[in-house]
Amino acid sequence: MKAAVVKETSTGERRVALVPDAIARLRPAGIDVMVESGAGDGAWLADSAYADAGASIVSAAEIYRNADVLLTVTRPSPEAVSELREGQAVIGMLAPLADPELAATLAARGVTVISLDGLPRTLSRAQPMDALTSQSNVAGYKAALVAASEFARFFPLLITAAGTARPAKVLVLGTGVAGLQAIGTARRLGAVVSGYDVRPTSKSEVESLGAAFVELTSVSSAAGDGGYARELTADERQAQQEELSGHIARHDVVITTAQVPGRRPPLLVTEEAIKAMAPGSVIVDMGASALGGNVTGSHPGQTVVTGNGVTIVGADNLPATMPTAASNAYSRNISALLLHLTRDGALAIDTSDNIQAGVVIAHDGKVVHEAVASLLQPAEGGPGVDGPSD
Ligand code: NAD
Repeated sequence: MKAAVVKETSTGERRVALVPDAIARLRPAGIDVMVESGAGDGAWLADSAYADAGASIVSAAEIYRNADVLLTVTRPSPEAVSELREGQAVIGMLAPLADPELAATLAARGVTVISLDGLPRTLSRAQPMDALTSQSNVAGYKAALVAASEFARFFPLLITAAGTARPAKVLVLGTGVAGLQAIGTARRLGAVVSGYDVRPTSKSEVESLGAAFVELTSVSSAAGDGGYARELTADERQAQQEELSGHIARHDVVITTAQVPGRRPPLLVTEEAIKAMAPGSVIVDMGASALGGNVTGSHPGQTVVTGNGVTIVGADNLPATMPTAASNAYSRNISALLLHLTRDGALAIDTSDNIQAGVVIAHDGKVVHEAVASLLQPAEGGPGVDGPSD
């Protein structure tokens, strides 16, 4: 099988799907790797490093002609989509629930579509393939660094001849993978850290990192399916926002990471809460998206300073800002999935396997993933992404 690594084309994307180390691990399974010239440049991985590891360095045109499987980080370029043909496959983080049309377009061309975002994450044998976790870890780490860099004071307690600096008080809202990594990083920088989540099980995880868990009296457990949170009702949401405001005002730095699968990110930090913060406070919104984020007034990729001196950073693809670390981890994830899917040197699609049932989105000319297929038929109803509701 010929697996090909293409150069990512999304704006600001510096990650690459495979790092040179992976090439020797794939060869025993009958997988030869082709790499588009320059694919690793953004992550400081030169063509020569791939060639030394045994890959052939080729043009994009040769990849479309000869590759069996395209390995990507995010969606393939429009050029790739129009060049791919029957019998070829694409594996990447293709966000099929947010962009079902891509899967439909590729399915119509006979291309098999496999997306790491659909992985059943609680299966222990799937954990080496869990790219959402590996990239959230990178993002959570970087969010804490971005916050520290924007903050005009120290994170740690510093006692010097020039005076004493009190440690920064950091609040992390949403303590899944990214939130826990942000907590750990802010703690290592010396801040006094608190965490909050609607899933009660996260209390022990937050406390095990040496942070305090914030418990709200107004909102009870909102644990949903599969370890995720459920969406709050309108009343719960309002009560949560009001009670959180008091906690937010007492902190110097707030990092938000809250997500509910298939829904717009919940609004946790309202305009009133921001107005109650002290000048010089910093908010990093990892939930920032085109649909809205966890923070009023945040926009992905933009930093704004409010009239009362609060800096709001709308995070945008933080893993791409640490491309080498993120690519190393992603390369492990996608290689593990590719090896899982390969039998006798070819892809063996079999959706009776739990892992494949989650990740195989299109095959044999059809969108086979139920949730994605239902999004393509709105008349029959499906778990759509809500518009703004706050
Ligand atoms: P996520 O990115 O979906 O959401 C981030 C966090 O936001 C979650 O902790 C969620 O509970 C929280 N959240 C949602 N709405 C909120 C609200 N209104 N207020 C406050 N917080 C809110 O989460 P994730 O990082 O992908 O993790 C989701 C779950 O999956 C966690 O339970 C995690 O431990 C679990 N997980 C398990 C494995 C595994 O078993 N191997 C791997 C990865 C994640």
